[in-house]
Amino acid sequence: SVRVRFAPSPTGPLHIGGLRTALYNYLFAKKNDGKFILRIEDTDQNRFVEGAENYIIESLNWAGIPYDEGPGKEGNFGPYKQSERKDIYVKYVNQLIEHGKAYYAFDTPEQLNQLRQQAEAKGEKFAYGPQTRQSLNNSLNLSKTELDERLERGDDYVIRFKTSVSRHLHLKDVIRGLIEVDTAVLDDKILFKSDGLPTYHLANIVDDHLMEITHVIRGEEWLPSLPLHVSLYEAFGWEPPKFAHLPLILKPNGKGKLSKRDGDKLGIPVFPLEWNDPKSGETSKGYREDGYLSETLVNTLALLGWNDGTDKEFYNLKELIEAFDLTRVHKGGAKFDPEKLKWFQQHYLQKAPINALVNQYKTILNQKGIEVGIPYIEHVVATIRERAIFVSDFWELSHFYFQAPETYDAKASKKAWKSGTSELMRQLYDDVISTQKPFTEEGLEQAVKKWINDHDLGFGKVMQPLRLALVGAMQGPSIFNIAAAIGQQETEQRIKAAIS
Ligand code: GLU
Repeated sequence: SVRVRFAPSPTGPLHIGGLRTALYNYLFAKKNDGKFILRIEDTDQNRFVEGAENYIIESLNWAGIPYDEGPGKEGNFGPYKQSERKDIYVKYVNQLIEHGKAYYAFDTPEQLNQLRQQAEAKGEKFAYGPQTRQSLNNSLNLSKTELDERLERGDDYVIRFKTSVSRHLHLKDVIRGLIEVDTAVLDDKILFKSDGLPTYHLANIVDDHLMEITHVIRGEEWLPSLPLHVSLYEAFGWEPPKFAHLPLILKPNGKGKLSKRDGDKLGIPVFPLEWNDPKSGETSKGYREDGYLSETLVNTLALLGWNDGTDKEFYNLKELIEAFDLTRVHKGGAKFDPEKLKWFQQHYLQKAPINALVNQYKTILNQKGIEVGIPYIEHVVATIRERAIFVSDFWELSHFYFQAPETYDAKASKKAWKSGTSELMRQLYDDVISTQKPFTEEGLEQAVKKWINDHDLGFGKVMQPLRLALVGAMQGPSIFNIAAAIGQQETEQRIKAAIS
């Protein structure tokens, strides 16, 4: 059965590219009744960042794509953090050494640097590999006794993979098809470091094998490592999983990978959640805190590099699971489209359960010192949500439901409030506003319109100053809706205030 994994390194916040990788893994797993596994690849101690692991887990949960096995959800294949699996890697790297597929190398960084410089001086590039390894400082050139002596002495070493000489590898990628590589161009990658920890390559292969991963779905940046990984499977005598490398997420203009700087320029986050960097103290924007719904981000990311071949654009998670097809993922990079993002957000804000929106708006109102009942907020939200993209737009769209205008828009005043208008409003007030019972939207609308008719007045001549009095500007939903909501007394007061 299908088992896939998302294998981030906790080196910082999850970029939306990483979240998309997780999403595609999740969709593929669920589509095939398989398991979605989270594995934390934390063997590079220099790059470890406090809080990054929690951030990753919180992001997956917020997006609604929880893992089946992983940290805190131990299955039969744990532990799921590589730093807790050290002994396993020692065992397997020793197995490679025993079979002559890996070797100890004692070259110091200084020696290697020198070789690099010498090669550069000749316009060449130094590679530790088939062409050079026989004259370097490694166990291939030492007798068993010499090697044991050096190890016993505690000399610093790394363990390198003995890549095979000049042979063509035929690699298959679910998305890209057949890829051919000449192994002669490969060097002897380090599998194990002097700190007693494996490198990414070894740990990744060992764990994918032991965790019975069937499909490796990951970012395109790992494609260059594929020959090494396939060679490692071969060296172990293991059957490799299937590989699928996802296209990059590009800047809106298609020129290069979408970076945090591009995001800043566009006013769009590149991280799912806000991130406070423990080292720099810098805060980076997150979709969640910027008011995006997780449905928006999921839908947007799903379509960055995939479509089902139809024009359909709105997908909830369930529909995505049904429609997702790994072989339909694009090869080419996917341009991030900020307009599309806003468009999805507008759509999902309309679909969001009203209770959730009401609660969020209530918090905003309370912060402004406004305490009103839930049904009232619900009425307002139901009236104005269609004009909003974010909950944070609500105030701008509806403050007049909660507060009398403090000022009147100058341009609108000039246009709507002529000589005689005050008198007109006083009349409207006496005839209709103060007598209307019950004070409902429909009743009010009928009465005001009848009054306008009876007095042979232009509609705008009455409605515009009325709106100005209640709202302070020429915006907002139906003025009768607003008047009925704020009530008879408040309507009267706002008209009086505008007249005076
Ligand atoms: N730890 C790697 C990363 O951070 C995982 C790559 C892979 O999925 O093989 O992207």
